[in-house]
Amino acid sequence: MSDSFSTTVDTKPSAYVAAQLPPTAPLPAPRRKINFLLALLVHWLIPGRFGPHLAAGSTARACLATIVSLSFVVGAVIVHEIQEERRFARPHVASPYSRSSSRERLAEEILRGAAQSTGANWSWMPFIGVASTPLLIELGLLIFATALMPWAAGGDRAWSVWKRSVRNVHWSLTILVPVAAVVAVLACINVNWDHWQRWPDAVIISIGIVVFLTPVILLLRMWFVGAHRYVGPPDGPAFAPREPLCDACGYAIVHLPLETRCPECGLPVRESLPGGRRRPTPWVERRWRPSGLFWLLRLQWQILRRPAFFERLPVHSGIESARHFWWMTVAFMILVSLAVIRLSVSGLGSHSHREFEAAGITTALAMGSVLATLLLQMLSMFPLCLWAQKRYGIVDYRVSASACCMATPLVWPLLIVLLVCTLAPVLNEQWLRGVVVLSLLDRPVSAWLIVAIASTALVLLAAIFWLRRVTAALRAVRYANV
Ligand SMILES: [Zn+2]
Repeated sequence: MSDSFSTTVDTKPSAYVAAQLPPTAPLPAPRRKINFLLALLVHWLIPGRFGPHLAAGSTARACLATIVSLSFVVGAVIVHEIQEERRFARPHVASPYSRSSSRERLAEEILRGAAQSTGANWSWMPFIGVASTPLLIELGLLIFATALMPWAAGGDRAWSVWKRSVRNVHWSLTILVPVAAVVAVLACINVNWDHWQRWPDAVIISIGIVVFLTPVILLLRMWFVGAHRYVGPPDGPAFAPREPLCDACGYAIVHLPLETRCPECGLPVRESLPGGRRRPTPWVERRWRPSGLFWLLRLQWQILRRPAFFERLPVHSGIESARHFWWMTVAFMILVSLAVIRLSVSGLGSHSHREFEAAGITTALAMGSVLATLLLQMLSMFPLCLWAQKRYGIVDYRVSASACCMATPLVWPLLIVLLVCTLAPVLNEQWLRGVVVLSLLDRPVSAWLIVAIASTALVLLAAIFWLRRVTAALRAVRYANV
């Protein structure tokens, strides 16, 4: 297909720009139909292999997978309840305080509700609540799938990206199948907790963290990897030939000599074409090697310092490395924040109960604000992609998603300001108690109030910096041919 376009950039000095550039993505793989039962049981293990085909498949099957997965959870709860009942039914553990199972409690509630519903007018509200729960779950899944669209961008149209993201989010709930199986098995095994109490706390906590964290990590992997590439017929902006545009101003440079400049803005024509100014960063090649870490750190600084970075970023081919850069940067940000919080809190001099409490609150506040910022950054990608589509006409979501992912280091100022604002007051005990009072226009003003106002202003400034630079990054990639 691309044979007719392969001579676009000729090395001969007399060469001209062709009428059309080749498609930016290779032909997508054909869609395979995956056995439903197989997908239900092993999709959580290999989302990269099954995910794209499941996401491009039928919506009904994706919804059915969600229903089956949820029923597995209900099954595990029933197994757990039956085992609890059996345990209490045994004579040697029978207690005078017989406890009713949650099924019995639920039945009692329903009967009580039914009895009340004949009396009062508004008592049918709980039943509406129960009936609307599936609708609310579905609505939540749809909203979440929309937010995850930048991770499903594969060169197809926006509508197709959205549908694939929706199916992927539904299929990702199959993680509940192994979780429910483990819960059911644990319920059947009579765990002797007395024996466990003799184990060291650190071991128990470590096991607990692994047990709870593993499904979360697997679920995150399913969300971000499940629909990362498009399979099916080559229908979308990435699979069609394009008219070559000037990288800086968007002027159609069709049939211009390669060794000339854009008549509109003066940018050399060669710079706008493959092999021109948009080239992969050294990090792309080295990202799986130890030296990649060095380049990851260097890129953080380069992106923060140089707005022109995005004029040299290849956005059509670099989506995979941009996603990799995003999650490595997020992990790095969390690690740095944890280290800063730990050091600041341990820097407190005395260890009175009051200060210990303040340190706990500060740690929670600082970490909460860092995680909330990173979550907002993740969720902001879809609105930014949509805005780039409306404002700059970027129809291929891979382009805007690449720019947004590579723009992640622009969150650093906001993170630093949040950490300083949440950690600084606790380092100064007098500020914390509101003892310091300054006079402003002959009126006493608590230093605490001034710190709060200054913090808010700094946070706003850092947020505005981030938004301005991200939108500038999207503006810089709107005419990219590479
Ligand atoms: Zn130009």
